[in-house]
Amino acid sequence: MLQEDTFRHKGLRRKLVDTIRRKGIDDEAVLKAILKIPRHCFMDSGFIDFAYKDQAFPIGEGQTISQPYTVAFQTRLLDVKPHCKVLEIGTGSGYQAAVLLDLGVRLFTIERHRKLYIKTQALLNEMNYKARFFYGDGYKGIPAYAPFDRILVTAAAPEIPDDLLKQLKTGGKMVMPRGGSVSQEMILIEKTGDDEYKESKHGLFVFVPMLKGTSNGNNK
Ligand code: SAH
Repeated sequence: MLQEDTFRHKGLRRKLVDTIRRKGIDDEAVLKAILKIPRHCFMDSGFIDFAYKDQAFPIGEGQTISQPYTVAFQTRLLDVKPHCKVLEIGTGSGYQAAVLLDLGVRLFTIERHRKLYIKTQALLNEMNYKARFFYGDGYKGIPAYAPFDRILVTAAAPEIPDDLLKQLKTGGKMVMPRGGSVSQEMILIEKTGDDEYKESKHGLFVFVPMLKGTSNGNNK
């Protein structure tokens, strides 16, 4: 069952939005989504006091729900329009997915951890967010539904996966943290032609690693 969304939660969300705005996010549509979405519902009920701090937090299976500022930053950089077709790598808690869905995109999201895939799919359905969920290795993307207008990677890898570049539409954009285990640079790729890309860098962040293959809970 969904956790209640009380006045207290709503008040904490207003403060969270103020914090993110102060850190430089000025995209009103993104801020509105953060104001609306009950982030505490994406975390276990024991951790409600942490839900509206601007921090990442463990969600089980060794994974984290991204920091709200990071979610806002990636979403703004991705520059989505209503109805555009978006591929998210790393469904995780589903919070980033909810922000994208709130902005009116058609979302395809892929997770390599079977338990998270099952749990988050159920949660977002219960919250009436409609996305297409996939259990698999995000390095491969989802060729059957390509090409995508936007690709958002929410785990870090040392290189931009070729398969994902191939699945990006010409004129499309991809956002991904690229780097090693300590910190990563936020990269924006714009596909300007059949095999032509423009790359820009947008500061340092810390993400969990993008791992190869899938995990059904018995292996890592
Ligand atoms: N978008 C998520 C962020 C979760 S952290 C949120 O808003 O909560 C990153 C997620 O990426 C983790 O759940 C992790 O299991 C997943 N992940 C890592 N490597 C992956 C891969 N190769 N394919 C799909 N998901 C991957």
